[in-house]
Amino acid sequence: MALEIIRIPVLSDNYVWLVHEPESKETMVVDPAVADPVLAEAQSRGWTITQIWNTHWHPDHTGGNAAIKAATGCKITGPEAEKERIPTLDVMVKEGDAVRLGSVTAAVLDVPAHTAGHIAFHVGDEQAIFVGDTLFAMGCGRLFEGTAAQMYDNMQKLGQLPGETMVYCAHEYTQANGEYALVAEPDNLALKERMDAVLIARAKGEATIPTTIALEAATNPFMRANSAEQLAERREAKDNF
Ligand code: ZN
Ligand code: FE
Repeated sequence: MALEIIRIPVLSDNYVWLVHEPESKETMVVDPAVADPVLAEAQSRGWTITQIWNTHWHPDHTGGNAAIKAATGCKITGPEAEKERIPTLDVMVKEGDAVRLGSVTAAVLDVPAHTAGHIAFHVGDEQAIFVGDTLFAMGCGRLFEGTAAQMYDNMQKLGQLPGETMVYCAHEYTQANGEYALVAEPDNLALKERMDAVLIARAKGEATIPTTIALEAATNPFMRANSAEQLAERREAKDNF
């Protein structure tokens, strides 16, 4: 991999992704909930942050924007459809647009539902995608500003990416998601095996992210929902689980 991707755990369960492209020496942050730990991590590696990419407007994804920009002069790219709610944005993007980090290009995908303008950044050459709060390990984002039908379309769209694509989501929700997933699909052996490994990892305090598209296709009850109606039923059941 040309990119170096560092996981920074912040707040109770957020992951901020610090991404370095060694050729250009550009460094980018995905969804900085806060600024200080991100600036400290970059500094400890001798990296200067040149960009922020936001997937959606929620404060636990944009809260560090202003302070990181003030400290570094970085350029902030995020969803066009949420520009009013992210006043620090410099560059507004939507599906079909490309975003560059040095020699690497990401395609912007629209994945509305958790928020109305939620986007994802797919770095196809690196087999990586930054999905914010749309796809989680064995879960999906809550439907705050969209519908189950939109989230179903998102799951189909993401599920068509190559199976080896690494999925960088923004929260460590894996164990709680897996507990519900086992209720939704009690006979799924791949899911049972995955949960055994997750419980061991979490007991040791280890992160379970990134995941992969293939692993989600095998174990995620939202990606595996066979209709928007089934996704809606599962989302409601998980909300009340
Ligand atoms: Zn969110
Ligand atoms: Fe979030």
